[in-house]
Amino acid sequence: MHNDHSRSRHGLHANASPPLGEISEPDVVIVGAGIAGLSAAAELVANGRRVVVLEKSRGVGGRMATRRVGEAVCDHGAQFFTVRGSAFGDMVAEAHEAGSVATWCEGFSRATSIDATVTPAVDGHARWRGVSGMTDLPKRLAAQLPADRCVLRTAVKVAAISVQRGRVRISLDGGPESGGPITLHAAAAIVTSPVPQSLDLFMAGGLIPAEGVIAPEVHQQLATVHYDPSFALMLVLNRPSLVPPPGGIQFAGGPISWLADNQQKGISSVPALTVHASGTFSRQHFDDPPEKVAAALIELVRPWIDGDPATAIVDQSLHRWKFATPTTIIPAPLVAAVMSPPIVCCGDAFGGPKVEGAASSGLAAGRWVARVLAGAC
Ligand SMILES: Cc1cc2nc3c(=O)[nH]c(=O)nc-3n(C[C@H](O)[C@H](O)[C@H](O)COP(=O)(O)OP(=O)(O)OC[C@H]3O[C@@H](n4cnc5c(N)ncnc54)[C@H](O)[C@@H]3O)c2cc1C
Repeated sequence: MHNDHSRSRHGLHANASPPLGEISEPDVVIVGAGIAGLSAAAELVANGRRVVVLEKSRGVGGRMATRRVGEAVCDHGAQFFTVRGSAFGDMVAEAHEAGSVATWCEGFSRATSIDATVTPAVDGHARWRGVSGMTDLPKRLAAQLPADRCVLRTAVKVAAISVQRGRVRISLDGGPESGGPITLHAAAAIVTSPVPQSLDLFMAGGLIPAEGVIAPEVHQQLATVHYDPSFALMLVLNRPSLVPPPGGIQFAGGPISWLADNQQKGISSVPALTVHASGTFSRQHFDDPPEKVAAALIELVRPWIDGDPATAIVDQSLHRWKFATPTTIIPAPLVAAVMSPPIVCCGDAFGGPKVEGAASSGLAAGRWVARVLAGAC
């Protein structure tokens, strides 16, 4: 791996794990430290590969996101996960044994929309959560990556992906003070960002469009992937909410898709709600002023707030997810955008719009790249 510019100016030495240069020849660079990227990294290091994981946010987990709001702890991305397949099941079983994840319940209350009757819906199928929040599982995966074979860097944004002399070239966003872009080279890349953002990285590196390295039909397939946005409003309350046990309501239609009580969930010591707006509402109001969106959502969930919201809500925070849930799923666990050198796209748009789908897609991508690098396919 070649670092063309000073790393220290880029802040790459800030984290506890070794600086990027200590893995001098990574086999694979992974873009994104959500559950897909971390699952891919785990699979690759288990196959003896040397990996660099780059994450633009300050922490790991991606859309498995937990935030402190005042005295409360709120999950504001994924709220729970289910387990169906054996590969993800093994990962969850290990995390459960280690005390990182726990079952929340076996079904939530449901309603057709925000003003309809809420009915309990237990189906006997476990809904899982992180013990202290949804980031617990990705944090555990990150902590388990061996430092001699994997370097994980947060607050590092990939700006472009290209191919140079048969290797993948990754350009990092250096920021205004960095003195120019930093580039890394590897034998392969796994790209887990939401697909429109991955296409932007390929475009910036000249891999697309038209006469680029990525075949037009592969580009077209990736371009079919779209996402719903979602607002996540977190409300800290000065008294328990009126959300019925076990603390979550799923709405099949209307402006609200989900309402959760983080205290009943077991992650917050004080009452706090997470409200998710539907894709339709979020798209319609995406550019509205945050205070206007928050006021509209508070009015909608008023029946579950005990008393006047003006006094019952003691703290609040609004998060805007631009790429919350894929509305188009590619019916394959991964897509090799480039075969040689391998540049693979994976994540929840490939395995299914859920935590398990993303993890399974990441595991499949890691396994496939490991096999290709070993000359097995
Ligand atoms: C509001 C909401 C509610 C949800 N509810 C549920 C639920 O209840 N149950 C469930 O199973 N699923 C739920 N999901 C979906 C679930 O969160 C996702 O399917 C899963 O977390 C996706 O994981 P991923 O690794 O594919 O993507 P992500 O988690 O998005 O990870 C991709 C990572 O790439 C990073 N990245 C992007 N671009 C760059 C770049 N240029 N350079 C470096 N890093 C980059 C991002 O910062 C991110 O960390 C929900 C999602 C949202 C947003």
